[in-house]
Amino acid sequence: RKYIWKLSTGSKNLDEILGGGLESQSVTEFAGMYGSGKTQIAHQACVNLQCPERILADDSIRDEFLNEPKAVYIDTEGTFRPERIIQMAEALGLDGKDVLNNILVARAYNSDMQMLYAENVEKLIRDGLNIKLVIVDSLTSTFRTEYTGRGKLAERQQKLGRHMATLNKLADLYNCVVIVTNQVAARPDAIFGASEQAIGGHIVGHAATFRIFLRKAKGDKRVAKLYDSPHLPDAEAMFRITEKGIHD
Ligand code: ATP
Ligand code: MG
Repeated sequence: RKYIWKLSTGSKNLDEILGGGLESQSVTEFAGMYGSGKTQIAHQACVNLQCPERILADDSIRDEFLNEPKAVYIDTEGTFRPERIIQMAEALGLDGKDVLNNILVARAYNSDMQMLYAENVEKLIRDGLNIKLVIVDSLTSTFRTEYTGRGKLAERQQKLGRHMATLNKLADLYNCVVIVTNQVAARPDAIFGASEQAIGGHIVGHAATFRIFLRKAKGDKRVAKLYDSPHLPDAEAMFRITEKGIHD
């Protein structure tokens, strides 16, 4: 079994509650309201993948990152912004164009396309692409609009479960970091009390190893809460979103 490696989020505080960073061989879910920073974290992860100091890896697998590791960004909401990648890259002294060239953006207009893109990542890897990061932003938006009403709930959960299984397999088999985002209408009370409102609640909950809830704080500050991790304590971290990207 290959060594797990970790990818920095850009925030030391957030990395710390994750046990060092975003972990390979796992799916990490970022949930939160609009503007809480899910897409920004996803963009920053793509940039950090090109920054050797932001990768924590054992010597035995370090060479996997020398040959321009690739990120796949499955974009279901049309919110991927090349200019933002360039801005974050330049803040780290990286060439923006080089970073962009190592991100494969796939715009998914419905859940079938989204699922297909995720399934096709395996083929790209087998064809020789050094894919080390897979992002689905957002995991749930297509399912939410296509499967409305109680009658569709079982089918939706089943498909979402299958999609998550595909992502978990990619993470596991190819030692990738996988990030999914999940917009919630309000603070899911499961984290703070009563019943959960996050769509896909149980399925996602049981399939994502790390779950982080993001909330807005004052100005550019955000609070991340890690919860229900199998081996890490629940914990909170403060980070900021500025023109430079994600940092403490
Ligand atoms: P949604 O659920 O609507 O997709 P989200 O959680 O993905 O929301 P983001 O798009 O990640 O939210 O965060 C948007 C916020 O990030 C903006 O409100 C702004 O505060 C901050 N932001 C985005 N771009 C920049 C930038 N270039 N400079 C500074 N802050 C920025
Ligand atoms: Mg977003």
